[in-house]
Amino acid sequence: MKSDRQPPMTDGKQRLENMLEALKSRGYRITPQRLAILKILAQSRGHPSVESIHKEVKAVFPTTSLATIYKTLTLLKELGQVLELGFADWGSRYDGNRPYPHPHIICTKCGAIVDPESESMSVMTQEMSQASGFRITHHRLDFFGLCPQCQKEE
Ligand code: ZN
Ligand code: MN
Repeated sequence: MKSDRQPPMTDGKQRLENMLEALKSRGYRITPQRLAILKILAQSRGHPSVESIHKEVKAVFPTTSLATIYKTLTLLKELGQVLELGFADWGSRYDGNRPYPHPHIICTKCGAIVDPESESMSVMTQEMSQASGFRITHHRLDFFGLCPQCQKEE
């Protein structure tokens, strides 16, 4: 895993199938709650937090606990099926649509996080590797600023 080449954006359906396959092959049961969590993660490009996933699942399954969300996320992380973006100030956000390293743009006002389309990551990774002698295994690259909506509201 962890090639710096970005596969094309996969659709939510394929990601959901991959997640289900990964869980089933390890013998994990797919409860309706867990399926709801997987669907949110597979489709979402919005990089949800644990709390926002919880809120969305609770709307359909009111007894779902926050611990269930955490457990499922931990499991998916172990299986390489979700990317966790940890922020010291804001907590973690999750990308189940693209579970491999890729750059992000973060709005410092509203917390929106998007995946920029960029072709230059593999070039940059090669340059880094050549300049340092490191064998690069993965990367973390965040850009910060104001999203178009927040710029309008300024
Ligand atoms: Zn914003
Ligand atoms: Mn992302």
